Parts: sequence; structure tokens; C-alpha cells
Amino acid sequence: MSSVAQNIRKIKHELPSSVRLVAISKKKPVSVIDEAYQAGHRVFGENQVQELADKKDQLPGDIEWHMVGHLQRNKVKYIAPFVSLIHSIDSLRLLQEVNKQAQKYNRTIDCLLQVHIACEDTKFGFDEQKIRMMLESEEFQQLQQVKIKGLMGMATLTENNEQIRSEFKHLQEIFKRLQSSYFAQDAAFCEKSIGMSSDYHLAIEEGSTLVRIGSHIFGSR
Ligand SMILES: *Cc1c(COP(=O)(O)O)cnc(C)c1O
Repeated sequence: MSSVAQNIRKIKHELPSSVRLVAISKKKPVSVIDEAYQAGHRVFGENQVQELADKKDQLPGDIEWHMVGHLQRNKVKYIAPFVSLIHSIDSLRLLQEVNKQAQKYNRTIDCLLQVHIACEDTKFGFDEQKIRMMLESEEFQQLQQVKIKGLMGMATLTENNEQIRSEFKHLQEIFKRLQSSYFAQDAAFCEKSIGMSSDYHLAIEEGSTLVRIGSHIFGSR
């Protein structure tokens, strides 16, 4: 068995049934993704539009492709026909463009709202107040072909586990408040995309439903 297949099996074995694995294959060749595919894995994530679109064309059609990186509005059109979940919605204008492209392809695109939980200001995302303003706006309520499934967050790059944990807790609290304010009747608002190679054990303890793991599966980049 390849080491990629072994890594996938080991991680899946650790995950509770409530948590799904998104294998982050950025910067890795399709041959390596295919090893994970042969091991039965079907959910992959990329952070660049061009790379995502190129790989999708070269790999089997039953892969569920997630976009996890910063997304520019002018590039939404390249992934709109097929993307399963966009983790990185960080503005109303981006969501409006996703909706427009979804209409063209006659589909509904599932999205997560990226929340800024880290202390670095380089990481994209909303704060809670901006999400509330968006969800309450008329412009948002007109969007028929995007579905908000939950939140995504990236913790600060630090060795300090207590800081990481408190950032994940913060996301969980925002999630609960938004759920009770806006999604109480909507069971589809259920996803918390938190946890990467270095912090997914913590993220699982703090309520993750989607872990985004790259280097732990495919090796360093
Ligand atoms: C690269 C990346 C990951 C995975 O990072 P690893 O540390 O390799 O597991 C997760 N989420 C996002 C948004 C990424 O860009």
C-alpha cells in the first residue's frame, strides 16, 4: 500500500463519524491524488482556481472538489460548473458572483462563510457583525442559488495549543449564535470547517465537522 493510502486510512480511523476528511492536494501531482482515490478517498480540496480546474479534468468524475483558498470574483466562473463546496466566502460581492455563475449552470452551490479567528491580519474572513449584516441584507436574501452550509476558520500559526483551542471555541460560539438567529429552521447549516494537519485533533475536540488535511497525507510541500 502506498504511504498516501496508509496516511488516509490512519487519519480516517481517528475521525469520529461526524467529521469528514477533505484531503488538501494543492501543489501535488494528479498521480498522488490518484493514490488517495485508489484508496477509496473521494473528497479533495485545492486553494487555487486554475489548479483545481486542471486537476478536475484529469481525474475521475466522482471526486467531490472543494475550494478552500481565497477566491477572486473573476475566477468563480472556472469552478462554478462542478465545485461541491466553497469554504472561503469572505464577502457579499463574492457570494453574489457565485450565485450568478450558479444560475448559468442551473445549479445551487454550497458555501461556507470564512470567519476571521486568527490574530494575524493576513488571513481573510468575516467577523460576526459583518456576517449578521450580510445575512440581514436584502441583497443576500435575493440569492437563490447559493446555500450557506456553515463556517470555516483558520487558526493562528502558533505552537500555542491553548490559543488555537480558544480560536476554535470562538468559531463554535459564533456558529451557535448565527444558527439560533438565522438558521434555527435550517438543518443544512451544520458545517464547521476547522482543523489542518497540525491542529485537527484540537479542532475535532472543538466541534469540527470538516478537517482540511494536506501535508499529513501527502507530505510537505
Ligand atoms: C493548505 C491548506 C490546508 C492544509 O494545510 P496542511 O497544513 O498541509 O494540512 C488547509 N486549509 C487551507 C485553506 C489551506 O490553504
